[in-house]
Amino acid sequence: MSLIVQKYGGTSVADLRRIRLVAKRVAKTYDQGHNVIVVLSAMAGITDSLIEMAYTAAESPDKRELDVLLATGEQTTSALLAMVLKSMQYPAQSLLGHQVEVITNQCFGNARIMDIKAGWIQQLLADRNIVVVAGFQGCDERGNITTLGRGGSDTSAVAIAAALKADVCEIYTDVDGIYTADPNICEKARKLSVISYEEMLNMASLGARVLQIRSVGFAKKYNIPVHVRSSFSEEEGTMVVNENSGMERLVVSGVTHDKNQARITLKKVPDQPGIAAKIFTPITKAGIVVDMIIQNTRAEGQTDLTFTVPKNDFKRAFEIQQKIAQQIGAEDVFGDENIAKVSVIGVGMKDHSGVASTMFSTLARENINIMMISTSEIRISCIVEEKYTELAIRVLHSAFGLDDDKS
Ligand code: ADP
Ligand code: ASP
Ligand code: MG
Repeated sequence: MSLIVQKYGGTSVADLRRIRLVAKRVAKTYDQGHNVIVVLSAMAGITDSLIEMAYTAAESPDKRELDVLLATGEQTTSALLAMVLKSMQYPAQSLLGHQVEVITNQCFGNARIMDIKAGWIQQLLADRNIVVVAGFQGCDERGNITTLGRGGSDTSAVAIAAALKADVCEIYTDVDGIYTADPNICEKARKLSVISYEEMLNMASLGARVLQIRSVGFAKKYNIPVHVRSSFSEEEGTMVVNENSGMERLVVSGVTHDKNQARITLKKVPDQPGIAAKIFTPITKAGIVVDMIIQNTRAEGQTDLTFTVPKNDFKRAFEIQQKIAQQIGAEDVFGDENIAKVSVIGVGMKDHSGVASTMFSTLARENINIMMISTSEIRISCIVEEKYTELAIRVLHSAFGLDDDKS
């Protein structure tokens, strides 16, 4: 008997009608003789509206209490699905994160899973129950409720699949698989039948929100096959698995974008040892993750330093830098929130040259200015003006031969 973890995202459980459809699919899998654990998101839009409510209640809501509030979204859907399954005469039971014992660190709002005990799940499965788990939530060692960051129910599902050695983790969403670019932006995007963990890690870290990056990390570490598919059709989706020799090794296998970026420039910084540490240490201490950094050396012993941070952290990072600029004698600080990062990704890039020049000349032909560049063995990212994001995605997708001309 195989164990299948099925995770349903917000659009798949957006209302009672859809929850009933989910119940039917879960029941069908159960009737085929499998053990089933279902992991749910909140109804689409609910997490956003809970956040909005919290920021109306308090200017800077307490992080612990915010997680208590956000966890209610997933509590609602898991209770409703378990009720529907029970009314269909299926043995089902819902469990919240702390009941599953999803133990996390204490980083409210972005907690990391440290351990999953899952004793209660195992007992329920042994009695042939369908277990319905509230995703996105866990608890710290003292029992405080924590949440795993936006999109975190993917990570709940894969981590539970790893803890219970499931045969597969199915991620049901509103697209029918992983595409070469976001299919809602690039109409010529092609569906991939399989993708390696490594490529998916890069796509997720560079903006493809179809899987939360940490879920791919868990899948890779514990070798859990992940099947991303649509909850609205029976079609096979995309398998995320270990790279193997049978895989098509495209030079570029995907184009991603990330609009959640902002950049900060410090102008005319004294070019001396220790300056970078003075600029970045307070940012790190504030828990802000810096992504790209570039430094241009000027002739007069001065340098301009530009870096990017997540848009949500922009205001805090900018205020910190204004103080630092005064301390270190920088001339000025500028900020820009209207930027986006577009990236091309592919394991085949390792053995090919010319990818960067194709990327730069393609953007140049459209008059899209590149503000920053970063590269690794299997990806190249450029920061461009936000208004060019969609255009950049489409022309790069086409330039690297990824277009599906049937669509
Ligand atoms: P869920 O609520 O089911 O977790 P998400 O909105 O988090 O769904 O993720 C699905 C969305 O991811 C799709 O609607 C699509 O717009 C977006 N997406 C971005 N990049 C890709 C990609 N390369 N392939 C498929 N979907 C992508
Ligand atoms: N409900 C949470 C969110 O909207 C978690 C998830 O959907 O994965 O981010
Ligand atoms: Mg998601």
